[in-house]
Amino acid sequence: MSDVRNVIIIGSGPAGYTAALYTARASLNPLVFEGSVTAGGALMNTTEVENFPGFRDGIMGPDLMDNMRAQAERFGAELVADDVVEVDLGGEIKTVTDSAGTVHRAKAVIIATGSQHRKLNLPNEDALSGRGVSWCATCDGFFFKDQDIAVVGGGDTAMEEATFLSRFAKSVTVVHRRDALRASKPMQDRAFADPKISFVWNSEIAEIHGESKLSGLTLRNVRTGETSELPVTGLFIAIGHDPRTELFKGQLDLDDEGYLKVDAPSTRTKLTGVFAAGDVVDHTYRQAITAAGTGCAAALDAERYLAALS
Ligand code: FAD
Repeated sequence: MSDVRNVIIIGSGPAGYTAALYTARASLNPLVFEGSVTAGGALMNTTEVENFPGFRDGIMGPDLMDNMRAQAERFGAELVADDVVEVDLGGEIKTVTDSAGTVHRAKAVIIATGSQHRKLNLPNEDALSGRGVSWCATCDGFFFKDQDIAVVGGGDTAMEEATFLSRFAKSVTVVHRRDALRASKPMQDRAFADPKISFVWNSEIAEIHGESKLSGLTLRNVRTGETSELPVTGLFIAIGHDPRTELFKGQLDLDDEGYLKVDAPSTRTKLTGVFAAGDVVDHTYRQAITAAGTGCAAALDAERYLAALS
């Protein structure tokens, strides 16, 4: 059994690394589990990030995350590229088990495990991510000025993305597998009234085309099986997100969509000494800067909690 640490951080996106930086600078000697596959988080899968403040000319996603990592490490954060496979968060001393079965103990835990955008699971989808295929209109819409774009999905997020993108795009085609939208009535009305937005009903994306950049899509009508080509240079996939909260079920409160509940505007969960930050909590903003902001808040909340213990 390990010594009792002050704080363990689970997750290594902007929220986890920012929490690591702040807790390290507060001499709390954080142990950070970065994950075994996607250390660095969602931005490791993108190209240019133009909206993270401080980088006038933009920065590549992996470079931004390398910088955050190195900055946390510089102040003494201990980083481990491993997954947490089990947690016990109820007691005064929390336990966190890694993939080798080693149990780590801490007085406070910060959860920053992010959320996974749902994929179409088509060949080329990952290869063209950041090269025409996107999951975030706020992040990437600006790159698609005067271009023809497709949005796949039929819920509120898809309609929000489509109406946002119509500000920049030449045209926005919404591809939806049913003949009616799931989005709320006001969102639907706004999309239907937008002259730049058109709809392809009862259809799914069968193929994504392009070598180094997206060049078009093959659509398949799910009723007739007929296929058609849609020449677009942008595809926004808006079919939902899955917050990574499996580990915490039964211990922490989750909302209807599976996100961790916190006592906002703090990052406190219902268990004392357990804090949560970033996209694992947030289904509204989902930006690197908001994740970093709540990562900072979680570190300060943990710091104050630990100070009150001593
Ligand atoms: P994440 O970045 O998702 O990081 C979570 C981390 O936790 C992951 O590394 C994961 O491996 C780790 N983890 C999960 N479970 C465990 C476990 N059990 N054990 C150990 N580790 C675990 N935002 C912008 O502001 N600007 C952009 O330009 C932009 N572009 C984007 C492009 C793409 C393709 C995507 C997908 C997102 C983009 N975003 C952008 C959104 C932004 O990336 C997210 O809002 C942000 O990364 C969320 O940060 P986070 O720290 O909450 O979680």
